[in-house]
Amino acid sequence: MRFYRDLGLTEFYRRPVDAAILEQWEAAAAGPEQQSAESAARQAAPPFTHSQFPLSGEDIMSARKAQFSSPFIAAEVPREERAAALQMIREEIGDCTRCALHKGRNKLVFGDGSPTARLMFVGEGPGADEDAQGIPFVGRAGQLLNNMIAAMGLTRDEVYIANVVKCRPPGNRTPEPEEGATCSPFLFRQIDVVRPQVLVALGATAATYLLGSRQPLAGLRGRVHAVRGTQLIVTYHPAYLLRDPRQKKEAWADLQIAMRELGLKAPGKG
Ligand code: URA
Repeated sequence: MRFYRDLGLTEFYRRPVDAAILEQWEAAAAGPEQQSAESAARQAAPPFTHSQFPLSGEDIMSARKAQFSSPFIAAEVPREERAAALQMIREEIGDCTRCALHKGRNKLVFGDGSPTARLMFVGEGPGADEDAQGIPFVGRAGQLLNNMIAAMGLTRDEVYIANVVKCRPPGNRTPEPEEGATCSPFLFRQIDVVRPQVLVALGATAATYLLGSRQPLAGLRGRVHAVRGTQLIVTYHPAYLLRDPRQKKEAWADLQIAMRELGLKAPGKG
């Protein structure tokens, strides 16, 4: 009970859980923005030692070649080496100037969460708050995402979160194909290291790059796709849900597919 109370889900005995959850999500539209202090203070990873992990050698960062996600399934990185492997990718990105987005960047937003997460969320690109803090999904959309994660019975530190592009597009516009093609190979490598059981694409841009083709979101939702050896669920971007809260019910249905695949039950259900 205390666990659920800490998540803010205090009323599931009195009301159907779905209604309670959707109301919980509503609070995100008005509530103060929060940031995971633990995430912000995340320690630098120890040196990476695993010789099998393909971080050097062949240039798999060639953006134009590796424009989209492929059916390629990378060698598994041992769980205890995943933090260091992610750190190596971060170091390879460095003070990136590979595309024009670096010109307006304050902080590069690499990723956040558990290197061994079973569930990973992929957004489009940093907004103003993320650009200021260097952490994905810390603004209003991030607050809603936090509530969605809590509704699944998880905490933010248990999942991994990253974006298609790591620098803020001006005015929060959709990344240009050149920008997405240049940056997304780093996302694919993050996915390959974390190796989540389930990936959730938040919005059309994430779905496009993860699936390798542009299709209307409506046709992609409601089923499980296979990408890079993991299961992919497509749902609405939290920023869209803030603009059109009526779609939260649909998003919750998508998250329930992810929960089913992960063997999770909503808090209060069983
Ligand atoms: N929107 C995104 O797609 N990513 C973020 O990190 C924040 C907002």
